Amino acid sequence: MQRLRARLARSQTSLGRGLLTVLSRERLDDQAWEEIEEALLTADVGVRSTTEIVERLRTRTQVLGTRSQGELRALLSEELVAALQPQMDRTLHTISTGDGPAVVLVVGVNGTGKTTTCGKLARVLVADGRTVLLGAADTFRAAAADQLATWGSRVGASTVRGPEGGDPASVAFEAVKAGWDAGVDTVLIDTAGRLHTKVGLMDELGKVKRVVEKQGPINETLLVLDATTGQNGLVQARVFTEVADVTGVVLTKLDGTAKGGIVISVQRELGVPVKLIGLGEGVDDLAPFDPEQFVDALLG
Ligand code: GDP
Repeated sequence: MQRLRARLARSQTSLGRGLLTVLSRERLDDQAWEEIEEALLTADVGVRSTTEIVERLRTRTQVLGTRSQGELRALLSEELVAALQPQMDRTLHTISTGDGPAVVLVVGVNGTGKTTTCGKLARVLVADGRTVLLGAADTFRAAAADQLATWGSRVGASTVRGPEGGDPASVAFEAVKAGWDAGVDTVLIDTAGRLHTKVGLMDELGKVKRVVEKQGPINETLLVLDATTGQNGLVQARVFTEVADVTGVVLTKLDGTAKGGIVISVQRELGVPVKLIGLGEGVDDLAPFDPEQFVDALLG
């Protein structure tokens, strides 16, 4: 918890502390509410959620009358947690429930942290006693397969790779096949995020999906999003949800941004739960997303 708080320090300073300071003013006049709205929008909470949160807070603080610091914190916390949709199912389907390995596709735009997330997720699984195989289906970025293999040897997972510039679907196929042959628990497939055209992406991811599914179901498709790209990243994310059956979002680089409110927008706009958050470049910097803990860390 302390660690989460430290990693979210930038969002905590701008959003959590900012909101509490304004809320505890002597008079909550229109100006104060505008400032609260501004803080939420700046943190990328999004227009619709901001309006709702502000309206509810406004009503509730009026009804309550007396407003101690503790009460205000509790109100704010409740509203932020509610906006994070705690009822969403965030279970990770990374462990096989039938024959063969669980297959996890990791998709997203280049640079968002897909390869790093594969490495960190493999680490979590290996630490949990699982066997993991990594598939380097990002054959377009020159260093991607090397980077993934380095992560693999670091965390104790083997890597299947193809020739540079080769067919991503064929690497994905070989990885799943090798996973069956070796009897591993999980195959994590790192894909290329070339968003040159929607049709191109659809063709590429569609083909990866088809060849993988020849051998069994895809248990989880994780969309990796870079929190620092804010609302722009959401536009690209929507394309991915249209072409792949995304089952969960990994929001990376939350450690480097004051825009922690993007979690609210992402879930609201995409209708997909944020399941994991990236809190740094290190091997242990991946955490399950828990709305209550997140808000607690934000409010300091
Ligand atoms: P890919 O192109 O999507 O596979 O992206 P990479 O995994 O190569 O990551 C791009 C850069 O983002 C690398 O420098 C990573 O170390 C960095 N990165 C990934 N996740 C995080 C994170 O959660 N926090 C921070 N600060 N950096 C991250």
